[in-house]
Amino acid sequence: MTGLPARAAGLPRGAGHLGRGGSGTVGHAHLWVLLDGTPAHAAPGRLAADEDGRLACHLCGRWFAHLGAHLRRHGWTAARYREAVGLPLHVPLCSAEVSGRIAATQKANWDADPEARGRFAPGRELARSGELNRLATIAARERQDRGQTPDAVRAARARRLAAGRAAQAARRDARLAAVLAASGAASLHDLLRARYAAGTSLDQLAKLTGLGRTRLRGELAAAGVAVRGSGVNLPASKRARAAANDARAAARVGAGDIRVWLRAQRRAGATLADLARSAGRSVPWVRSRLAGPPLPAGGPAPYSCEYLAGTN
Ligand SMILES: [Zn+2]
Repeated sequence: MTGLPARAAGLPRGAGHLGRGGSGTVGHAHLWVLLDGTPAHAAPGRLAADEDGRLACHLCGRWFAHLGAHLRRHGWTAARYREAVGLPLHVPLCSAEVSGRIAATQKANWDADPEARGRFAPGRELARSGELNRLATIAARERQDRGQTPDAVRAARARRLAAGRAAQAARRDARLAAVLAASGAASLHDLLRARYAAGTSLDQLAKLTGLGRTRLRGELAAAGVAVRGSGVNLPASKRARAAANDARAAARVGAGDIRVWLRAQRRAGATLADLARSAGRSVPWVRSRLAGPPLPAGGPAPYSCEYLAGTN
């Protein structure tokens, strides 16, 4: 028979079927029975090692440096094996040599990665000192004292979240009502249609109404507004903003067309600074309006200052 190595502790002498690598197997008796009734080739609750450190498979009696990998040949997982054999988690399913190699590789990786060490350092220190266990115990006890089961904690957190959301929604609604009242628009949809058509961007609308992007898009869709693709509308909205600025300046000086008015004033001797002050804009703006594209043919509008000046 193949003599059992002395280190195969717990295996009775004469268990000759524990042939190494299947060689020298004589007979096939099972001396043990696992917890789940499976006939076993090694003693439950422990691993038998040969002189090379290889471990005996309880299921077939052969020896393996990497028993955990071998278990797949039986269609078993390591967890099922551990449970059936009665092995605690801290006992590796491989020879001491393989286990040492794995540990050495992991340690080398660890040593070579200061960032990883830094990341885990606080946690490791807590764990090493036992502080982590102490804190967890205290926290669990305190939760229990307060009657805070995990379910109760979750429920309370959900209630706080819901209350916060409701308060936020109420604030948003109040603000929206104030904006609508100030704008004179009959409804949110009217306001959105008018502003969007005038070139106001989604960002500006969101800021104006206090609505989130998702809700704003929903309201625009409900208002029948086709949202422009981002970036597509830039020149158009720029033009719209420029037109709005022109209109504001024209209203301020009482002119129909600000560009016509500026040219007339300039011809009459007004300085750029005078014009900027009157229009409530900057000097560069005045310069750009004076230098802008040619005015539409047909002369000044009849309600402009130039027209009035011409009729005098
Ligand atoms: Zn096996």
